[in-house]
Amino acid sequence: MQELSADYVVIGSGAVGMAFADVLVTESEASVLIIDRYAKPGGHWNVAYPFVELHQPAAFYGVSSKELSGGRQEWGGLNDGLGELASGAQVSAYFDEVMRHQFLPSGRVRYFPSCDYRGEGRVVSQLSGEQFHVKATKKLIDCTHLNTEVPSTHTPNFAVAEGVRFMPLNDLPRVTEPPEGFVVIGAGKTGIDACLWLLGRGVNPDAITWIVSRDAWLLDRRNTQVTDEFFLDTMGSYANQMESLARAESIDDLFDRLEATGYFLRIDPAVRPTMFHAATISKPEIAQLQKIRHVVRLGHVRAIEADKIVLDHGEIPTTAQTLHVDCSASALRNITTKPIFTGNTVTPQMVRPYQPVFSAAFIAHVELNYSDDTDKNRLCAPVPLPNAVEDFLRFTAVSLQNQFEWNKEPALREWIAANRLDGPSKLLRNLSGEQTDRMAIVQRIQQGVPLAAKNLQKLLATLS
Ligand SMILES: Cc1cc2nc3c(=O)[nH]c(=O)nc-3n(C[C@H](O)[C@H](O)[C@H](O)COP(=O)(O)OP(=O)(O)OC[C@H]3O[C@@H](n4cnc5c(N)ncnc54)[C@H](O)[C@@H]3O)c2cc1C
Repeated sequence: MQELSADYVVIGSGAVGMAFADVLVTESEASVLIIDRYAKPGGHWNVAYPFVELHQPAAFYGVSSKELSGGRQEWGGLNDGLGELASGAQVSAYFDEVMRHQFLPSGRVRYFPSCDYRGEGRVVSQLSGEQFHVKATKKLIDCTHLNTEVPSTHTPNFAVAEGVRFMPLNDLPRVTEPPEGFVVIGAGKTGIDACLWLLGRGVNPDAITWIVSRDAWLLDRRNTQVTDEFFLDTMGSYANQMESLARAESIDDLFDRLEATGYFLRIDPAVRPTMFHAATISKPEIAQLQKIRHVVRLGHVRAIEADKIVLDHGEIPTTAQTLHVDCSASALRNITTKPIFTGNTVTPQMVRPYQPVFSAAFIAHVELNYSDDTDKNRLCAPVPLPNAVEDFLRFTAVSLQNQFEWNKEPALREWIAANRLDGPSKLLRNLSGEQTDRMAIVQRIQQGVPLAAKNLQKLLATLS
């Protein structure tokens, strides 16, 4: 069997593999071999639904060395006044461009699309069946750990009877005959997107039944903006978060405080959320979703039959003319963490909440600049992905500890401040002492962080 070798072998050319490889290419002379079973770089963005968009501003998504955003604000629509959100097609085209015009011309990257990595260095082409062996002389970078699941590649975990009109939200744009009604199954980011897409195309809110097995706390997108005019929103929200963490007397009290300061939003003010997947949303989007009155909170769907939907805690009627839209794929199938640096393998995970691409670039930088695995793992503790509300506490604790470790390393601080994937640095770059309102927020953060870290430990101790 042919053997190919390179300093680094990267499995997966999704956003994480691309952000990692980018740092290897721009910050070292290393050779890199990239393998992916998809035919194009960009990972799940290539198979996402046609109306998918980033839910964070494009200004700090992608790879470190290339802007994704045109630096524009959106006007009109549900993201009015906020930084532009790239569409799924833009994200895919962007990664394709990075591969073609940056990685491959470097002469140090070899890319093997449509090839499956089967472990132990064995690779099989999905098209020719050819097999070859890969060897990393430095490290194998396993970017498959998150195991992102999207509706088009997902098998629902409930039965669907013959004759039921059922489709993933990917197929919604192909509907040409209005059905009697729509049943949207799932209340995560994709369920929200399906409802917003239908409402945006004039579907009567009363024609939509929304199956919400768990309500979610959502992040206000306004507080994720990284252009100057949003300094008070974004940094103010971070100060509010630290102060809420520092003062909360219980977990419920913490969430009440975070909601009162506008850090968290929810769709139905009468229902206390139990889920947190870190989805962001704008207030105009919330207002749209609140128009849907047929919200079913009877647990998960167990089966869709010809005339009824069976759920954990009851049944609702349905008809053969109703269109059932599957949004039940859970984006991240694997929410366990493992050490990022182990022997000759690096398993990128998030080292800062909500920031997979910043995290991948950061881990690559640490890989190139530190020699000892203990030091590398000290700087890169994996932040657990959130699912239940309490996970917010767990990942914030790890994130604060990481930040504390980073602050001790001046060169690392400098790298972060200059990196385009680091949102906060964009805001802090031009801060001057004369901007008293902004300086007051920075001071609140500086005072709040140690108190938040201390109180978090107390709150975490109350969790079983
Ligand atoms: C609808 C939606 C919106 C999102 N919006 C945002 C956002 O705004 N901001 C944000 O930061 N994140 C967002 N995310 C999270 C998103 O998942 C990450 O940003 C990122 O795209 C994940 O990249 P990845 O490389 O980890 O995973 P993937 O995109 O799944 O890439 C993994 C790659 O590995 C390949 N692979 C897996 N196993 C093998 C194997 N054995 N052999 C060969 N190849 C293999 C796959 O083919 C794939 O290309 C969103 C997610 C979804 C679903």
